[in-house]
Amino acid sequence: MAAIEKRSGADWQKLDKDHHLHPFTDHKELHQKKSRIITRGEGVYIYDADGNKILDGMSGLWCVNIGYGRDELVDAAAAQMRVLPYYNSFFQCANPPSIELARMLQEVSQPQLNRVFFAGSGSESNDTIVRMVRRYWDLMDQPERHTIISRKNAYHGSTVAAASLSGMKAMHRQSGLPIPGIVHVDQPYWFGSDRSLSPDEFGIVAAGSIEDKINELGVNKIAAFIGEPVQGAGGVIMPPDSYWPEVQRICDEYGILLISDEVITGFGRLGTWSGADYYDISPDFTPFAKGVTSGYLPLGGVMISDRVADVLIDKGGEFFHGYTYSGHPAACAVAIANLKILQDEQLVERVKDDIGPYLQAGWKKLAEHPIVGETRMIGLMGAIEIVKNKKSLQRYEEKQGVGTICRDHLINNGLVLRTVGDTIVAAPPFNLSHDEADEMLEKIWRCLDLTQATISA
Ligand SMILES: *Cc1c(COP(=O)(O)O)cnc(C)c1O
Repeated sequence: MAAIEKRSGADWQKLDKDHHLHPFTDHKELHQKKSRIITRGEGVYIYDADGNKILDGMSGLWCVNIGYGRDELVDAAAAQMRVLPYYNSFFQCANPPSIELARMLQEVSQPQLNRVFFAGSGSESNDTIVRMVRRYWDLMDQPERHTIISRKNAYHGSTVAAASLSGMKAMHRQSGLPIPGIVHVDQPYWFGSDRSLSPDEFGIVAAGSIEDKINELGVNKIAAFIGEPVQGAGGVIMPPDSYWPEVQRICDEYGILLISDEVITGFGRLGTWSGADYYDISPDFTPFAKGVTSGYLPLGGVMISDRVADVLIDKGGEFFHGYTYSGHPAACAVAIANLKILQDEQLVERVKDDIGPYLQAGWKKLAEHPIVGETRMIGLMGAIEIVKNKKSLQRYEEKQGVGTICRDHLINNGLVLRTVGDTIVAAPPFNLSHDEADEMLEKIWRCLDLTQATISA
């Protein structure tokens, strides 16, 4: 039955080196160290080919929100694949799982978001939005309105349009990005600023950079603004409370479309069904992916507001856009099973009222560590800022690679977290128990000690 050969860890590493190019990876460096072969997952733990048990503090890549080993999702995929593994949603066809999922998505989304366009990933969802936003303004007889404002250090995916929306310099330095018609303004990263303003003053100034850009380019050129409610890959950057209300005001005042990239924050990560719910904003588009299936199968999509959908439908005729796997029946069946688990087990509420506050309390205490300058967490999405000087909050020199040192200590001690520069980020599964949260916290403290010892050695 098994489709996969049994091989030793060393064999897998050799084959991986010879035949497999990894995403976001320096291959020369990887093959000096060898890849870590993950073979199994159960609950909040993953297991590697050497038999190590590792607590997955990142839910895979911010996606395995209900944890590993849930048979309901496996059974949903198998049952659907037996009945109808695939059929397309082009040519006036649809399949029951995609329709049922569309209904459920509407149910957990804000009232203005009644329609979904399916894609295969977050990147494809954002590419869809770039095209849809421009199509909308064409249909509104304002074809000049094509520019989308995004933010520095944002992450919206890796395809050409999504990488252009992303604000990552390292990505833009490669392959001639960003494409025209996408501009970037300041991110609301108070800790990363000179901290001369209060967080709320800083939030207003950061949002103000959107208004400045609108005025610089002319409002008749601006189609939309896109932001992650909490920036994920950029370092779990939580905007000051003043930020999102001001962004909403600006979008309303200038009539530009608001895109809330919910690929990480959707489906409970912040203890609410969306980041837009958490910050009480009212977007026209919410791209989603990751948590919609808890990563068990790839699926993405975009929830679209009535304001936009009505125009596309009434005036648009055919929109020449779509993916072979838009509305993939097996992926949609898995998403339905996943949403049912989130609802039946009240996991979003659990993040808000139980495990979220529990982990947050311990997270706060990590701020007492001598090399920690700040900790922050909303729901189950958190960050720890490593600093050299706790008083002045001065950082270590970049070339010391302190974040990487800490991450390596963590994984060697059985906990996966990610680092972005010297910021440690965490996003554990929603089924994390209190004991497992304690294990995370204890390991982080110990590895901060080890990191400090490594640097001083
Ligand atoms: C991961 C991510 C994406 C891209 O999703 P993929 O499925 O990797 O294409 C887009 N936006 C945000 C906020 C993300 O975190």
